[in-house]
Amino acid sequence: MSHSEVAILGGGPIGVEAALACVERGLSPKIYERDTIGENIHKWRHVRLFSPFCLNSSERGRQKLAGGGRSLPKDDSLLTGSEFLDQYLKPLASLPELADCTVERTRVLNIGREVQLKGDHIGSRKRSESRFRLLLESHGTQRIATADYVLDCTGTFGNHNWLGNGGIPCLGEDDSLQQIRYDLPDILGTDKEEFSGKRILVLGAGYSAATNVVALAELAKSDSRTQVDWVTRSFAERPLTPIENDSLNERDELTSQANQLASDPKSVVNWTPRWVVECLRLTKESNDQIEVTLSSGNDEQRKTLTVDRIIANVGFRPDRSIYEELQIHECYATQGPMKLAAALLGENSADCLAQASHGALTLQNPEPNFYILGAKSYGRSSRFLIKIGLVQIEQVVFGQGMRDRGARVYR
Ligand SMILES: Cc1cc2nc3c(=O)[nH]c(=O)nc-3n(C[C@H](O)[C@H](O)[C@H](O)COP(=O)(O)OP(=O)(O)OC[C@H]3O[C@@H](n4cnc5c(N)ncnc54)[C@H](O)[C@@H]3O)c2cc1C
Repeated sequence: MSHSEVAILGGGPIGVEAALACVERGLSPKIYERDTIGENIHKWRHVRLFSPFCLNSSERGRQKLAGGGRSLPKDDSLLTGSEFLDQYLKPLASLPELADCTVERTRVLNIGREVQLKGDHIGSRKRSESRFRLLLESHGTQRIATADYVLDCTGTFGNHNWLGNGGIPCLGEDDSLQQIRYDLPDILGTDKEEFSGKRILVLGAGYSAATNVVALAELAKSDSRTQVDWVTRSFAERPLTPIENDSLNERDELTSQANQLASDPKSVVNWTPRWVVECLRLTKESNDQIEVTLSSGNDEQRKTLTVDRIIANVGFRPDRSIYEELQIHECYATQGPMKLAAALLGENSADCLAQASHGALTLQNPEPNFYILGAKSYGRSSRFLIKIGLVQIEQVVFGQGMRDRGARVYR
């Protein structure tokens, strides 16, 4: 038992921290990362995290790095994604105890059980009598790996939702992908040329949309031809609802700046609430522009606008294809693991910082020894914070779940 092999899918903050915890528990972890360590954070590296460093790092990790003579950011530092990777996550993954555990540029395609099929031994501990089989792909070559435990920490950031009415792709969305960004471009840095002097449609009413709108308004100061249309689906009076007495100053500041831009008739931001996207069409005159048809949702009113680019901050979803041969009980609304999703439904604070982890039992699946941790454990919900994932790791790696190899029956 002491050398049980743990396959950790994804080398984001939760995957790397989980591997370190596994080493401490005497288990043998392997991190399979489709790109390089911290890839999803690298995609928004220019953005500042709103939670302080002490909440985004484990005591175990900080101690290991400090013990090796490395100076760490202050506990209350608000780091950019890039600083977090360079000053913490990458050095952590390079620790001698983890360096041999990390397999980069290796994507996990599918997981099953040796010999058993999805429908065998339903929800029973008998399933754990055979090992997991993982189909991996690296540089176009496939191979099989095996493991006793699997921790799926693949996040959701690479897997965007669709921008059309009702959450399905709108007509023409597929043909317009070159003109759409679903992420957080570096609008004031490396991606400036893509947006400067352009008319941009931003969709969504979360912090990502707010970040992009504020950056575009800043960009417009250096090129006044830049125009921003911000379309949101909800009926609220403002695009973002501020959190009362928000303890995170950066988040509070972002909310008020974005709402201010939306309400100021003199700003470059033209905010239109209560509309959804029906159709996108590349214009005949120039293949670079898109004609966007918006509706009030029920087809009673329609209008069109022509824009150069769309930034669709419409959220992300878990990639469930990885575990479709396993017995996973998913929430029908969020696509997160069912027990955790049910516990999260009971939360009523608007502030995701107020959340606590809901315990190891909520992380259990009918499939024994398989856990979904980190951002993916929240399914489509965007409320996950690294601090929750760090608690999940303690609960699963040091709790009953991984102590007793013949896992208990799922109830
Ligand atoms: C702009 C922005 C700001 C944020 N600010 C904060 C903040 O201030 N505080 C906070 O706590 N959280 C913040 N978050 C949320 C934060 O991103 C997550 O909490 C954190 O990155 C989740 O870590 P994770 O390890 O679960 O997943 P991720 O960081 O998404 O890592 C998943 C990893 O899995 C890899 N992967 C995916 N699929 C596969 C596969 N099939 N095979 C192998 N590898 C795979 C990916 O390449 C990636 O490296 C922010 C998010 C965004 C977008």
